[in-house]
Amino acid sequence: MTSKQTIDTLIHAEWIIPVEPANQVLQQHSVAIKGGLIIDILPAEEARQSYLAEKVIELPGQILIPGLINTHGHAAMSLMRGLADDLPLMEWLTEHIWPAEQKLVGDDFVAVGTELAIAEMLRSGTTCFSDMYFYPDVAARVAHQHKIRAHISVPVLEFPSAWANNADEYIKKGLEVSDQYRNHPLIQVGFGPHAPYTVSDESLSRIRILANELDATIQIHLHETAQEVSDALAESGKRPLQRLADLDLLSPRLQCVHMTQVDDTDLALLSEYGCHVLHCPESNLKLASGISPVSKLLEAGVNVALGTDGAASNNDLNLLGEMRTAALLAKAQSGNATAVPAHQALRMATINGAKALGIDRVTGSLECGKAADIVAVDLNDLGLQPLHNPASQLVYTDCSRQVSHVWVNGELLLDDHQLTSFDLHTLSNKVKAWRDKIANCDKHTT
Ligand SMILES: [Zn+2]
Repeated sequence: MTSKQTIDTLIHAEWIIPVEPANQVLQQHSVAIKGGLIIDILPAEEARQSYLAEKVIELPGQILIPGLINTHGHAAMSLMRGLADDLPLMEWLTEHIWPAEQKLVGDDFVAVGTELAIAEMLRSGTTCFSDMYFYPDVAARVAHQHKIRAHISVPVLEFPSAWANNADEYIKKGLEVSDQYRNHPLIQVGFGPHAPYTVSDESLSRIRILANELDATIQIHLHETAQEVSDALAESGKRPLQRLADLDLLSPRLQCVHMTQVDDTDLALLSEYGCHVLHCPESNLKLASGISPVSKLLEAGVNVALGTDGAASNNDLNLLGEMRTAALLAKAQSGNATAVPAHQALRMATINGAKALGIDRVTGSLECGKAADIVAVDLNDLGLQPLHNPASQLVYTDCSRQVSHVWVNGELLLDDHQLTSFDLHTLSNKVKAWRDKIANCDKHTT
């Protein structure tokens, strides 16, 4: 008789979609976790005989998927959820969001807003979020406290904010954050030049050199609207993506957020240089920014990942919902009902996100040797019955409230729908206090 191997956690689930290999659905399988890593995925019967786990979790009627990766957002902006809805991008930014930010953004605003965002994301199955906002040191600190995986893109603009006065200072402070989190197991720091129209050629070139030296990523809002592209053409005769190409910024390090405007030259550049597109369909729809031609991008071999953008332009951070929107929108946009099928939508929210952030060796799929970043969704709910196809149910029904368990790096952060590291009562009071301050400020600025 062979002795059982001792492990930390053994999860028995009705179904598992590992994402790699593609399109696979395992039934009555288990995941074995040790030291934060997935060490085995095997039939439940074999698992019961092979492993002795400190914690055994039985999930009948539930499905395990890789933790979702939200590749673009501004977590602290959750405090501005619903502040100025139903307005076009520039009016929304210049008359509401930017004035409120100038008056209010600071350490506490970012700490409370980021904590609110992390609570919302964990409860809806996100195990890794990418963030671009002022006080990235504070966002990283809060992510560290709550043990969620985070990709911090240090903001760079030519304009002053409470955090920095000019591009040089943003970059200098960003390098300090990068130093502080070097070799952190869950937090990665890159550069986030805000957009081509807010960052100079000189700053973009400096960022390119530093990103190469530090092996860091660059995330930028790009071709968000037709207006952005036409303004750039009128000013310089170049489309913004071409300008970045001329500055030698195109590479697999580059994460292009939005890309609602893609002509044939853009498509060829993105594909040739291996740049990633971070698709934020709900924010694009809400601000009427345009629709990214996702099917075309995927066909050309461009890696497309998903993001919610900030809660001020979404208005939630629910990546399961974003998958559904992305799948539906791709069909409407391409006139092809087979575009972005359920398994592909799930890939966009998991492994494609990991590739875009440069962490696909660590996370993005349920495979032996990868971190145990895992989400369980309870499909027993009446609204999810009958169940013919688990992948379709995940993508096309509303199951974000059915997320029952979330592990990041093997650590259980959502246990039977309950967050394990939050004082929700205190958080809720802090959010309400900020709500009043923001409402007063917006009244004075409008
Ligand atoms: Zn954004």
